[in-house]
Amino acid sequence: MCVFCSIVAGEESAEIVFEDERTMAFLDVRPLFPGHSLLIPKEHHETLGDLPGALVPVLFTNAQFLSRAVEGGMEAQGTFLAINNKVSQSVPHLHVHIVPRRKKDGLRGFFWPRHRYTSAEEMTRAGDAVRGAVAALQDEER
Ligand code: AMP
Repeated sequence: MCVFCSIVAGEESAEIVFEDERTMAFLDVRPLFPGHSLLIPKEHHETLGDLPGALVPVLFTNAQFLSRAVEGGMEAQGTFLAINNKVSQSVPHLHVHIVPRRKKDGLRGFFWPRHRYTSAEEMTRAGDAVRGAVAALQDEER
């Protein structure tokens, strides 16, 4: 059983901040800032891509709700929401990070360096690749 499933089962302690029938949120034990919460589906699904479609609106409605709650509760100026899928994912149970943000808090929007495309062609190639995958997945769903 994974550590987040153990929290759902009540076998591992956690500072639970929200719970409903399908989801749960608790404080991250190593927060970026106090109030940093993790929202999970109670059912074990590893990544967002694995989450059954019926749970997507449930999870995101609660992510919206918690972004308001974390911002308000922590008297923050905003929030940052993030999901690591596989890469940089240390717990293989889907979780949405909900992080309170303040101006000049040291997080510059994203944690990683960002770059411009080196040319318009490179950007078009990336656009073509993603559009191609979108079309293939749409075909699969038909
Ligand atoms: P990620 O690196 O995106 O997979 O994030 C996993 C997060 O889970 C990390 O920020 C950890 O600090 C947090 N974490 C790991 N184990 C626990 C736990 N037992 N209770 C609360 N948070 C946890």
